[in-house]
Amino acid sequence: MASPETAYVIPPPTPASVAVAGSDRRFPVRRIFCVGRNYAAHAREMGRDPDREPPFFFTKPADTVVDDGASVPYPPETKDLHHEIELVVAVGRGGTDIAEADATAHLWGATVGIDLTRRDLQLAARDLGRPWDWGKAFDRSAPCAPLVPLSDVRALDTGRIWLAVNGDVRQNADIAELIWSVPEIVSIISGSMRLEPGDLVFTGTPAGVGPLVPGDRLTGGINGLAEITMDIGEPSA
Ligand code: MN
Repeated sequence: MASPETAYVIPPPTPASVAVAGSDRRFPVRRIFCVGRNYAAHAREMGRDPDREPPFFFTKPADTVVDDGASVPYPPETKDLHHEIELVVAVGRGGTDIAEADATAHLWGATVGIDLTRRDLQLAARDLGRPWDWGKAFDRSAPCAPLVPLSDVRALDTGRIWLAVNGDVRQNADIAELIWSVPEIVSIISGSMRLEPGDLVFTGTPAGVGPLVPGDRLTGGINGLAEITMDIGEPSA
């Protein structure tokens, strides 16, 4: 058996992780799935028909997660960095073809996160039929509040979801307005690829997305679940 020092040709990365509310222990992140348009009013503001067409997904690397309270440098290549406040659920038990009725039993917890988006790069890619990765999956693009264990989560189907920039409320909706519910999303993803412990799912953002600049302070939350605060810093040198 090789020692940890010799098993890998370079040092393996430290697992990405998110904080757990009320605990010193952390939740290791395996993958991050994100739902595209999942609130009708946001679909409309993005110039799309909100009819209940099948959901679509994109992903972010696990190590894009950022803890509550962080300052995220304004990222490179964009002139239109946007906020998207979202309900986030965390998978604790893996599965394939998970039934909607069983979906909650596969979750470890839930929280609120911000799907930071380089909107100009995303829309250019969308309009050219190219992948969204450069618009969505950049460094530090997935700030998350501490994860709330499922036993402490009151509801995943109702609750005000909101985001304010420098105190001005920009996004204000209710997770009851999700086009595709959490059980439906878990079931649909697991029918396409096996969900595994450590997977996070960002469930989509309501209307009111908009641009950020260095110096902005973001606050947001889902009532009864979690709150997040983050700052946008100057671009990294
Ligand atoms: Mn999003």
